[in-house]
Amino acid sequence: MDGTDMTQDFAGRTALVTGGNSGIGRAVAGQLARRGAHVVISGRDVVRGSRAVEEIRADGGRADFVQADLADLASVRSLAKQAIDLGQVDVLINNAGIFPFGPTAEVPESDFDAVYAVNVRAPFYLVAELAPLMAARGAGAIVNVTTIVAYVGMAGMAAYGSSKAAVELLTRAWAAEFGPAGVRVNAVSPGPIRTEGTAVMGENLDNLAATTPLQRVGAPDEVAEGIVFLASDAASLVHGATLPIDGGRLAV
Ligand code: NAP
Repeated sequence: MDGTDMTQDFAGRTALVTGGNSGIGRAVAGQLARRGAHVVISGRDVVRGSRAVEEIRADGGRADFVQADLADLASVRSLAKQAIDLGQVDVLINNAGIFPFGPTAEVPESDFDAVYAVNVRAPFYLVAELAPLMAARGAGAIVNVTTIVAYVGMAGMAAYGSSKAAVELLTRAWAAEFGPAGVRVNAVSPGPIRTEGTAVMGENLDNLAATTPLQRVGAPDEVAEGIVFLASDAASLVHGATLPIDGGRLAV
């Protein structure tokens, strides 16, 4: 811990970060742990999950890994229960996501179903399991991770973009549903970010980033800063909002 004012603002709180073993989620897990949270990381890959936990612990933080396949609803519900067993979940970061791209006519049904299962159904049922418990305690914070493609129509991203557009709406619907009980719900909408997941895009990611006013690809920690802010008490009056973290792409 570095002793600055912000380091302990999540002390005594448990945060579930889906997809916390890679990319943006891994950066969020690290930042939350450095600020005092007990972080529960989930993903399918146990090796990457264990490595993330070891790194966070080596940094003085508190972390656990729960293996879960978010394409499977039983696994989603089991994740919620295991997270609760590790510590009441005060913060939920719905970060895990998949983004298979391709022309609409060539999207296999299996891809379409997987995108909606992981990107929409999993956050939906994690919130169904965890938000009522937060509401009963009168406090909690949920941050969803969407994308600029939920707003901007892009060829080849119809399935992915539409799934994240659903999450945008869910952010506002949940804000209406759980806000009166003291649970804040917000989202971030990242532009092109260099992660393990986007490594396969190579130069295409740079070309996408070149269309943003800042004209560069972002880093996972830059997105994590926004997510952690929205999850923190510093954002106590921010509710039902989506913060673009996209180099200005949605501004132009
Ligand atoms: P990433 O490096 O590929 O990480 C994705 C994470 O999701 C991994 O931890 C992965 O863990 C988990 N995940 C995927 N499928 C899963 C499943 N079936 N069950 C459980 N966990 C699963 O991707 P990222 O770039 O950091 O993206 C994180 C989020 O940001 C996603 O929602 C993405 O849509 C969004 N986003 C990314 C960008 C970008 O440019 N990178 C831009 C806008 C929005 P396992 O592999 O271990 O399962």
